[in-house]
Amino acid sequence: MAYDSNNIFAKILRGEIPCDKVYEDEHVLAFNDISPKCPVHVLVIPKGAYENIGDIAENGKHGEMGALMHGIAEVARLTGVDKTGYRVISNTGEDGGQEVPHLHFHVLGGRPVGPMVKRAD
Ligand code: AMP
Repeated sequence: MAYDSNNIFAKILRGEIPCDKVYEDEHVLAFNDISPKCPVHVLVIPKGAYENIGDIAENGKHGEMGALMHGIAEVARLTGVDKTGYRVISNTGEDGGQEVPHLHFHVLGGRPVGPMVKRAD
């Protein structure tokens, strides 16, 4: 399926809607989640148009994937959760519960984040 350039994060990247920016560099933008699940809940996204991890792994240009890891570490440092611990989540596709079809990493912390996944028997 082709990347949908009308998704909300693409609009943020084009400056069409605002975001509460936490960090930015050549390849990465990070901003506070509009509906935070933890005291620290930041979304780290590539500036490139990738839907998910598989997409960037296949089509990403040199440096983009490393820049995402660097961006996550920078967000952790800037928000202080590098000291206390944090969780990184990238929901992918239907079963993963992905709502926005632009690759993003949730950085969650500021309190114990809790069990990794609830078992649904
Ligand atoms: P996911 O379910 O992994 O696709 O997560 C999408 C996330 O984007 C959710 O946590 C939303 O709260 C968040 N979100 C949606 N719209 C915005 C927005 N305009 N600014 C910041 N976060 C947003």
